[in-house]
Amino acid sequence: MESQYALGIDIGGTSTEYGIVNKLGEVIYEFDFPTKSFNEPQELVDAIYKDLEDKGYLNQIFGIGVGAPNGNYFTGNIEYAPNLTWKGIVPLAKMFEHTFGKPALLTNDANAAAMGEMLFGNAKDVKDFVTITLGTGVGSGVIVNGNLVYGHDGFAGEYGHIRIIPEGRLCGCTRRGCLETYCSSTGVVRSIEELDSENKAFSSLMSMENPSAKNVFDEADLGDLFAKEIVDYTARLLGSALADYACFSSPKAYVLFGGIAQHSGDFAKKVKLFMEENILVIYKNKIDIRVSSLHDRNAAVLGTAAHVFWDLKK
Ligand SMILES: [Zn+2]
Repeated sequence: MESQYALGIDIGGTSTEYGIVNKLGEVIYEFDFPTKSFNEPQELVDAIYKDLEDKGYLNQIFGIGVGAPNGNYFTGNIEYAPNLTWKGIVPLAKMFEHTFGKPALLTNDANAAAMGEMLFGNAKDVKDFVTITLGTGVGSGVIVNGNLVYGHDGFAGEYGHIRIIPEGRLCGCTRRGCLETYCSSTGVVRSIEELDSENKAFSSLMSMENPSAKNVFDEADLGDLFAKEIVDYTARLLGSALADYACFSSPKAYVLFGGIAQHSGDFAKKVKLFMEENILVIYKNKIDIRVSSLHDRNAAVLGTAAHVFWDLKK
């Protein structure tokens, strides 16, 4: 029987999830390991191999897609990932190819998310779009004419580190004012501390111990004025930034992914409003703001598997 499944693997600082995915985007088997329990990356590769051997899936896989922070498509290496215990340069794609005897592709998580959106999610009908992942940081995957934009070295599309406020908040990248310091979940939490408002003293957020971004959005839904101001502030900065980023690739859509985007309120609508207010006239009313449909469907595994279907079966 022809090998028909893709193995999608998402390596995060906390856990590594992987799954066997068919071409319809159905995950037929999935499992996870705590990433930190493997001192050496090869131990993780071996553990996944053994599990899939035991379950009888090994011969049914035609390719392997791996998503990891700072994963480089061209080299197949993880390069200096800040939140992994494996330091320096890790030749992860080669390790998987050598152990499994199948082709393996590495990319970063945001690029994988964009691939997943195009094959299995809310961007099936468009060939030019950008996925914006709003999590602990802000990531982006840029698709132009149906292909991921990698740049000459594989690091294209780091929209989260485009600086939107001169001399603004200090970013983990050591510079100031990056989009991610305002519009990630950690950025939203920083806004509780840093935004001034006459409504702040009366906000329920101020009586919470370590309020989260979810708390901010929940309280805004309940009518808390300061929380609403933070949501608006976040949406305005993101919308304004997306207006500018349109100049690069003239996308048909931005697909927002992550807890903030998924929140029941009208965040995406607000982002759209602020984007339209700030956008160059030639792009006006042409770009959708969509919310990912993969959020509850193991997006990272689907994304890395989609990358394999797209790259190895075309
Ligand atoms: Zn930065």
